[in-house]
Amino acid sequence: MSDDIFKFDMKKCVFCGKGENEAFKMVGDRGTFICDECIKKSNELINRVADKERKAATRKLPRPSEIKNILDQYVIGQEMAKKIISVAVYNHYKRAGLTGKGPFSFENRRDAIELEDDVELEKSNILLAGPTGSGKTLMARTLADILDVPFAIADATTLTEAGYVGEDVENIILRLLQNAAFDVEMAQWGIIYVDEIDKISRKSETPSITRDVSGEGVQQALLNILEGTVANVHKQGGRKHPNQKFIKVDTTNILFICGGAFDGMESIISSRISDKQVGFGSRLVRGKKKNIGELFSKTQQQDLTKYGLIPELVGRLPVIGPFNDLNRDDLVRVLKEPKNSLVRQYKKLFALEGIRLTVTEDALHKIATRASEQSRGARGLRTIIENIMLDIMYDIPDREDVVECIVNGEVVEKRSAPVVKTA
Ligand code: ADP
Repeated sequence: MSDDIFKFDMKKCVFCGKGENEAFKMVGDRGTFICDECIKKSNELINRVADKERKAATRKLPRPSEIKNILDQYVIGQEMAKKIISVAVYNHYKRAGLTGKGPFSFENRRDAIELEDDVELEKSNILLAGPTGSGKTLMARTLADILDVPFAIADATTLTEAGYVGEDVENIILRLLQNAAFDVEMAQWGIIYVDEIDKISRKSETPSITRDVSGEGVQQALLNILEGTVANVHKQGGRKHPNQKFIKVDTTNILFICGGAFDGMESIISSRISDKQVGFGSRLVRGKKKNIGELFSKTQQQDLTKYGLIPELVGRLPVIGPFNDLNRDDLVRVLKEPKNSLVRQYKKLFALEGIRLTVTEDALHKIATRASEQSRGARGLRTIIENIMLDIMYDIPDREDVVECIVNGEVVEKRSAPVVKTA
């Protein structure tokens, strides 16, 4: 008998074409069959779509006070910035909710007031201005976590104008898309944090900094995606190639949060306010150092253009969140209060080895003092603690007798080994 008879009778999956000899199970009737794998895949797809629809329908947009309350659990201080950002983010997603699009449902609670249909609510991207290590990136990341929307971070200094060696602006969108598991719709409602925006300024009108026009092309490229464009993103990233397939991502509703330290901005603002140039060593300059956030809160668009940002870009960043320097007491709070503070993280690492970690108040103050001397804000804290903990973290997995580890003021001051208690 020839093999043809068997071929004629063989069941084939109508989706993938797999024969019954290749599949574990086939389901079907009257010549139409589906293999077990395609059933599983279809099921997953249906569940995913249903899940997404359920989520969108039930996700209520948190109110500004609710957003701020959660931010309070992670970000120490920066009260004014937190408030400004909570309102801006709420308004951003409210725009979407009203039109029935976006990741949140929003009910217009004031039906009695007639809405003017032709008034369009414009997107307001956010600028965070303040010293290094004061929590700008943390704030942006926490916001995305609270809202459970895709998030990506980009460093403005690595970006280049199209055609130059460096990172294309489209790569930022690619990163967002990756973090959204290539769900284009979700990515289009995500948040992108662009760090070091101050470093791509033209710096032409800032008297203390040398002339440098190189940033303008990058600002222009950034402006395009901030304004809203359809970016052609290639899955593999990198340089464009004529044969590459692109994924189209509309950036109109992506919320951009740009951050920068804006060194030297103090004198631009001060001189505008006092209407005269303020030199170094003057009382105003020394005074404002104490509360840089207060001065940044007075930032106007003209100050930013004077600093070297092109007016069109400034126009797209209408919300300014001023960040303060963290003082010693703030740094102590950063060490212990946030939900995932460094001390809590270390306590957990030790607890997993069955050891209680105690860091005394005195030690916390001494760590904070050392960090504030480094002028890197809270960024210095991690390095200091890691140095203190390195040897003990190396030894402890080999030791079964340790029950407690104490970091006191003396340990920090003398850079000695933490005190160890054994059973
Ligand atoms: P920036 O972006 O302003 O330079 P980051 O947000 O990157 O600073 O801060 C670095 C780290 O320092 C954060 O990951 C966080 O652990 C800590 N940190 C900084 N500022 C704060 C703050 N205000 N509250 C809590 N932790 C902070």
